[in-house]
Amino acid sequence: MRTLLVRGWALHLIALASALLFAPTIAAASVPSDTLRARPPAPTAIDVALVTAVIPGYLSARGLPPITGSLIITDTGLVFRTSAGAVLGSYPLVGPVRRRGSRDHRATTVALAYVANEGKHSSYLFRLDGGVFETASPGPLQELAQHPAWLDRVRSEEWSTDRPLVDPADTDAAVQLAAAISSGAYADSLYTLFGRPARCAGLVGKGGRDRGRLGEYIASRDSLALDPGRITSEAQLRHAFTHELAHRWQRRSVPELRALWAGVEPVHDSRRYGYASVGEQQAEAVAFAIHFLQTTGAGIGSVAAGLELLDHYELLMPGTRVLTRYFALQPIYRDHPLRIALASRAASLQ
Ligand SMILES: [Zn+2]
Repeated sequence: MRTLLVRGWALHLIALASALLFAPTIAAASVPSDTLRARPPAPTAIDVALVTAVIPGYLSARGLPPITGSLIITDTGLVFRTSAGAVLGSYPLVGPVRRRGSRDHRATTVALAYVANEGKHSSYLFRLDGGVFETASPGPLQELAQHPAWLDRVRSEEWSTDRPLVDPADTDAAVQLAAAISSGAYADSLYTLFGRPARCAGLVGKGGRDRGRLGEYIASRDSLALDPGRITSEAQLRHAFTHELAHRWQRRSVPELRALWAGVEPVHDSRRYGYASVGEQQAEAVAFAIHFLQTTGAGIGSVAAGLELLDHYELLMPGTRVLTRYFALQPIYRDHPLRIALASRAASLQ
């Protein structure tokens, strides 16, 4: 059972606040000169060092499965780097100016969503723009999440916006991309698990777009539809494609899925897709499970590391673990490095 709680974390508050206020790149632009106030001392190497923090954890960007890496806090913002060193996301320390009633305020970049307690371990889940960052050691991130007053004196920035894979007005490019994802090697591997739809993937219609859908499964035509004009990454395209194929499989595997799903907890995060909908949670858990098997298929440091990574998928999308074990037993994953470990854990739990 998970409980929700917020804990204070004060160790770095003063150091972090003073380092940010005194850092010339941030404070000078937003604090007017005032001869009645003492001038702040010049920044020191120690100030800058204190504001820099590296927090290991997992980023789930735009609802996608978690990626292992570190969130780096600097005096200019937050950057998430994957374990391989790639920059997956960057965020300002504080968001753009917004008007609430008659007052301006700066949107918070970091907000603590909840703390999940699993046995002795606590996982802190923070919202970052359109993503969720999970960590066991939040450090100064917890202070940022409480939006201390000094944060409003930091120069605010507009959010960076992701560009879609194709121009939303370019229907031909969207059609080509939908056709490509549904006829490539990735799709073929999924068809062996979920079956092949009768038609190639098309585009989401106006009704679906108005409802904000990135993909749809149209059961009456046994066809998928995607909206590449609003999909911003290859990972998101694959995720949407897998999610919709999962809906196809769902309709054809009702008793099987019901048996697998027994005891799976619902989604706890009200902002995550799949919340309060078992059908959508199942489709998301399928997409998470496939992502896990694909990601770890080329090998992972150790079996223990692989199973631990799966725990983080499960935390964000309950049901991922049981579906991963199920799919790992299918012939397509006969050479998967975690197949035996997943199978034996499954057996031990029956
Ligand atoms: Zn769905």
